[in-house]
Amino acid sequence: MYFQEPSLLKFQQQMEDQQGSNNCRSLFGIENIPQSSQLRDVLDNIPSDAIAPIFKDFFSRLRRHKHLEGYAILPNVLMCSIDGTQYYSSKKISCEHCLHKEHKTGEKTYSHAVLQGAIMHPDKKQVIPVMPEAIQNTDGSKKQDCETNAAKRFIDRLKATHPRQKFLICGDGLMSHQPLIEKVLDNNMHYIFVCKPGDHQYLLNG
Ligand SMILES: [Zn+2]
Repeated sequence: MYFQEPSLLKFQQQMEDQQGSNNCRSLFGIENIPQSSQLRDVLDNIPSDAIAPIFKDFFSRLRRHKHLEGYAILPNVLMCSIDGTQYYSSKKISCEHCLHKEHKTGEKTYSHAVLQGAIMHPDKKQVIPVMPEAIQNTDGSKKQDCETNAAKRFIDRLKATHPRQKFLICGDGLMSHQPLIEKVLDNNMHYIFVCKPGDHQYLLNG
């Protein structure tokens, strides 16, 4: 919630000026508000898996206090909507995990993305995010990672994290293909995927 303001530094400084305190200090015990470059230097070294237990704990607390029951889309089934989103793109700065795209001009664009999932219900304004899956190249793999591969890992992880919870996975036209549907069914989940006439000719026009 502290990250909704585009500049964390500006937001914290504003609080400091207006209220004589800021929540970097009151909540996290940080004496001096760090510059964004320092924040990145620190955060970049933490593997994203390190924050997975936070999502699981959050989910367990919601379940324990019966907040998840109102999200059931079918009896005991939660709907988890998934989609990919890119959060970094550069023509100059890259790392070994970057996805890369070569343009006709020979120029390259480097990027990072995640497959994000959230539990949603049509009658609820709030969504409950679950641990995202990074879409990134791993060491030694020649083939680029992609959204559908990340979705397969996401589904395995969702099942492993919440083995007794039933899910309905919701996704766009990228997801409505056999390998991913098999992955969903193998994990005993339901699915609703968008299916457009253009890329499902056999199903719709066959
Ligand atoms: Zn990178």
